[in-house]
Amino acid sequence: MSLPPCPQCRSEFTYADQMMMICPECGHEWNPEDKSDDDTPNILDANGALIVDGDKVYIAKDLKLKGSSSVIKIGTKATVRRVLDKADHQLDCKVDGAGEIMITAKFVKRVSD
Ligand SMILES: [Zn+2]
Repeated sequence: MSLPPCPQCRSEFTYADQMMMICPECGHEWNPEDKSDDDTPNILDANGALIVDGDKVYIAKDLKLKGSSSVIKIGTKATVRRVLDKADHQLDCKVDGAGEIMITAKFVKRVSD
C-alpha cells in the first residue's frame, strides 16, 4: 500500500500515525480523511480511492475518444500527470499507446503497489 506524498514538500517518505499522516522531511502533519483544508482536489477512482498526481491507473471501461474512432481499451495502463478540480475529465493522463488524454476519474482504477 502506498501513502500519499506530503502536500507541503511532496516528499514520498510519509508515514501514518493513527489518523494522521506525518512527513519526516518538513514535519508537516495532516489528516488524509479531512477533505476541507487542502487545495488538492479530492478525485476518486471507480473504487472510491483517492487519485493524486503521479498515480498509476488502468482504464476500467472502454473509452471512446471524442472526435475519433479510437477506443482506449479496458485494462490500458496510464500515468496521471495532473489531477484537476473539475466535474469530469479530471485526470490529465499519459495513456500507454494513446498519448496525453483527459480522462474522467470514475473510469479508471488506481494501481496499488
Ligand atoms: Zn513534507
